[in-house]
Amino acid sequence: MSNSPAPPNLSLAARDLAVVWHPCTQMRDHETIPMLAIERADGAWLQAPDGRRYLDAVSSWWTNIFGHRHPRIVAGLKDQLDHLDHIMLAGMTHEPAVALAEQLVEVAPPGLSRVFYADNGSSAVEVALKMSFHYWRNRGQDKRTRFVALSGGYHGETVGALSVTDVALYRATYAPMLFEPILAPSPDAYLREPGESEAEHVAQCLDSMRELLGKHAADVAAVIVEPLVQCAGGMRMYHVDYLRGLRALCNEFEVHLIADEIAVGFGRTGTLFACEQASITPDFLCLSKGLTAGTLPLSAVLTDERVYAAFYAEYSAGKAFLHSHSYTGNPLACRAALETLAIFRDEPVLERNRKLAAHLASRLSALLDHPNVADIRQTGMIAAVELVRDRRTREPFPADERRGLRVYLHGLERGVILRPLGNVVYFMPPYCVTIAEIDLMVDVAIEAIGKAVV
Ligand code: PMP
Repeated sequence: MSNSPAPPNLSLAARDLAVVWHPCTQMRDHETIPMLAIERADGAWLQAPDGRRYLDAVSSWWTNIFGHRHPRIVAGLKDQLDHLDHIMLAGMTHEPAVALAEQLVEVAPPGLSRVFYADNGSSAVEVALKMSFHYWRNRGQDKRTRFVALSGGYHGETVGALSVTDVALYRATYAPMLFEPILAPSPDAYLREPGESEAEHVAQCLDSMRELLGKHAADVAAVIVEPLVQCAGGMRMYHVDYLRGLRALCNEFEVHLIADEIAVGFGRTGTLFACEQASITPDFLCLSKGLTAGTLPLSAVLTDERVYAAFYAEYSAGKAFLHSHSYTGNPLACRAALETLAIFRDEPVLERNRKLAAHLASRLSALLDHPNVADIRQTGMIAAVELVRDRRTREPFPADERRGLRVYLHGLERGVILRPLGNVVYFMPPYCVTIAEIDLMVDVAIEAIGKAVV
């Protein structure tokens, strides 16, 4: 067998399609959809080998909060590489892991004082689920084996995280191998009945949650939610009062609240963490994506002293939390996260985001009367446009018409990466985006929507 390097006359895209199996992709689509090869990235822009540039309007799956190759993170990583690349985190520690835990505890909602690392979002969700379950077991309540999740929620695609996910596209096929959560209605404001106020909708969803918890509290370990925005489920947004009410219900029925801020954390919703807007502290806070500003995989689960104490015992009691990934707390990733937090400290990130978000809102208002737009919603630096066949009835376009794909393809032609979720065109740009870049992103999306709905 030859071990010669790649054939020199094949493009990167062609070489890719011969060997790489891509995530979230029907590979056959690439017989017609171009595979986009990217050679370098600067700020909000990606560059192809042929020199074409693309505005990264979705922050590389919502990870890249400050733009690509932020100089401060690049410098931190180069320095870190000169000292320590990777060690296991069992029985050993290192400065970046310790400093990052100290600083996360400092900025997180009050009361979260312990940090458990993993290396991606789904793993953080697995950790939170297992830790909650195990907490109750260590406390002698081993009947608490179930989880409550919201309809339309997404928490990742490993088996446990997918079990508490309610997006059919990802879950349906694998359902026979998953555990069944107790599903509670989503507070998604788009689901309001005509004439129903936000307050009424929230009250109704909290009533349903109360009923479910009343019935199942003795079997439930935790409720898991994405605070304020259910992202992968279609950028479904809900009122902060729901979060407040949910915290109160979890207290009343003595079940844990897991806040999955993997997508919404680190400034996306207007505050560093979405939970801040409800002034609540979850029992478990899951973080990833923006944690390293999109440079390296890392995740963390924060919890409190009460949870930590339930695991702290003689070795022989068998109460230790067992969950180990080889790259847990990788020093390079922790260093990138430390630089991320430093940028939040030293630069007026949230203040600038408020101005950018206001501009994005004003530009999107051009779509308010569009006959195929049923909803324009925004929470901080996440904005979404719901495309429908008929605005009056809200009849959706059938999924197999793949209208969103048409938006994507037009975006590619015009140099903007838009990656709709079904019929929801959304914007989640890096925070370094300029007013002119927001204009470009919205102009291209409006053109693309015009082409996609005919
Ligand atoms: N939870 C939420 C809310 C997410 O948006 C995601 C990723 N889209 C995950 C969990 C899973 O993270 P990862 O892709 O890193 O496994």
